[in-house]
Amino acid sequence: MSKTSERCEVCSKPPSTGYNYGAITCNACKMFFRRSMLKPFLPDCKSGRGNCKRKCAFCRFKQCIHAGMMLSPYTKTHNFQDNKLVLPLIIKSLVYMDDHRIRLFNNFLYEGDQLVSEMPDSLNFIRKPEDLKMSYREWGFMNIITVIDFLKKMHFFNDLHRDDVALIVNSKFVQLNIFSLAQDSFQSNNSCLVFPDGTEIPKTDVPGISEMFRRRAQCRLIDRLIQLKVTREECLLLTCVFLCHPDVTGLSETAKTEIATQQKYYTSALLHHCFLNYQNSGPSRFTDLLLLYQLIQNTYEDLSAHYQLRKFNNLEVYEKKIFTTEDNLCLN
Ligand SMILES: [Zn+2]
Ligand SMILES: [Zn+2]
Repeated sequence: MSKTSERCEVCSKPPSTGYNYGAITCNACKMFFRRSMLKPFLPDCKSGRGNCKRKCAFCRFKQCIHAGMMLSPYTKTHNFQDNKLVLPLIIKSLVYMDDHRIRLFNNFLYEGDQLVSEMPDSLNFIRKPEDLKMSYREWGFMNIITVIDFLKKMHFFNDLHRDDVALIVNSKFVQLNIFSLAQDSFQSNNSCLVFPDGTEIPKTDVPGISEMFRRRAQCRLIDRLIQLKVTREECLLLTCVFLCHPDVTGLSETAKTEIATQQKYYTSALLHHCFLNYQNSGPSRFTDLLLLYQLIQNTYEDLSAHYQLRKFNNLEVYEKKIFTTEDNLCLN
């Protein structure tokens, strides 16, 4: 059976020469992949954004890996031991995506008002005037939108129906938003949840909230990040593991299978990363990291309770559609 009429899955150009190392590619991309795999390390993306597709070696190699290319036909893509370049590539491209998210969060605004299922495939951000003073709720909204934008850009969503993507993102973004806030705060040397301008989360002006309770919501996750000295790389891999947990109702069978596969993939990536950095104590490091999910969940519950008290006290809330379901309100 000839596959020559098809396009290359890496550079999108015809003609392909059929299956090469596990993906349908052209001859040039086949040679490129082989050459790259034999190199000892991976170059940086030339544009520094990690999304220039074919233009730089980093982005082209990333495309190869996402297309499913692997050197030995007997090697599963999640055998990171055999493919030394793959894990650094995955991590580096997540860092590029996350840098972009942070830039958007700090410097841009989003004027749209949609539910996740109604959002366009690519969101239109506008640059924020330098002197604009953001309110607590505006920061909260921008944090949510930029995290959703980040999650929707995961490469494994490319092959899924947009309804499935919306269901997955919708069921995870609140928790992942809390996790990203904690990481950002921790990375900028804060010991509690804060927005980039230093405003503390949750709000301080709620009658009936003891300072102890507020501090718990604010610090319990970060305290653990500090204790474990969690790195950004670990956080990003964890984000993928948590995002791909297949406990989402209403998903198509294809999507269920796909995210279960992705969860296995990122779980092995994280485990391998722990082995590389912690040798024999890799497995216990791995467990410590996975258990962070419980603290994200606890923080979520604290923030929800905090929100309910604000509502009880008739404090105003932000009228954006994303906050219309009870589950998402805690970030308001
Ligand atoms: Zn090609
Ligand atoms: Zn690039």
